[in-house]
Amino acid sequence: MKTASKVALITGASSGIGEGVARLLAANGVRVGLAARRTGKLNSILQDIIKAGGDGIVIEMDVTDPEAVKAGVEALYAKYGKMDILVNNAGIMPLSDVETLKVDEWHKMVDVNIKGTLNTTAAVLPYLMAQNSGHIFNLSSIAGRKLFTGLSVYCATKHAVAAFSDIMRMELAPKYKIRVTSLQPGAVATELYDQITDAKYRKNMDDLSRQMTFLTPEDIAQSVLYALQAPEHVNVSEIFILPTEQP
Ligand code: NDP
Repeated sequence: MKTASKVALITGASSGIGEGVARLLAANGVRVGLAARRTGKLNSILQDIIKAGGDGIVIEMDVTDPEAVKAGVEALYAKYGKMDILVNNAGIMPLSDVETLKVDEWHKMVDVNIKGTLNTTAAVLPYLMAQNSGHIFNLSSIAGRKLFTGLSVYCATKHAVAAFSDIMRMELAPKYKIRVTSLQPGAVATELYDQITDAKYRKNMDDLSRQMTFLTPEDIAQSVLYALQAPEHVNVSEIFILPTEQP
């Protein structure tokens, strides 16, 4: 897929991986719909993108709200008259042991990581199916293929994203020429760990960051661009990308 003039919806574009992907795609001519709840951050990222010669819009979107998702997708389509790429990136990771019963956090992870992905997919897919082309990226994780204590619900959500992603690929790629890529990064330096309320796991993540050089959002963005720029007959269905020092 040539990237110039394509249109992408990127969820969770206000920080971390989503921001990195948005900046790199915009630098490669993709018109970006920057979606998240913190519109102040999105506006400042968009200003940078425009200054660098790119194009895009800010979309206030809580991915857990299907109406907000639908309205945001319609706004992006109304602006550019097409839709080519969806990056299902919005996610949260408040880690804890099961026995601490942080039930609210379990539900939030299911709502954002799984239902959010389903909401945006449902809103974008009709456009991609109508044009018989497109590329969907789903942010699974190393936690979507391996299990770790303390990550029970997070692992469950990321395994769910990986399963949904691969079956979507099986169904949509042959029929509609829609490519689907599941991204499974190891540790990336972002704001993700800031939401961990459990002191033990907050410390674990801080210790881990001292033991190895984490990936950067730019590293993940480069892998998205690689899959996007592959020839149309190539579907890079999974990307498992790790810090070199991460086992
Ligand atoms: P960040 O915390 O930096 O980014 C998370 C993004 O998700 C933010 O832009 C946030 O925007 C958005 N978000 C959270 N909740 C919602 C919501 N309800 N509606 C819309 N947007 C929401 O973390 P990362 O960049 O690290 O995470 C991005 C994805 O990558 C996640 O799915 C994560 O699970 C996955 N991942 C991360 C890894 C890592 O080590 N960092 C490793 C493997 C996968 P806002 O608050 O403005 O709404």
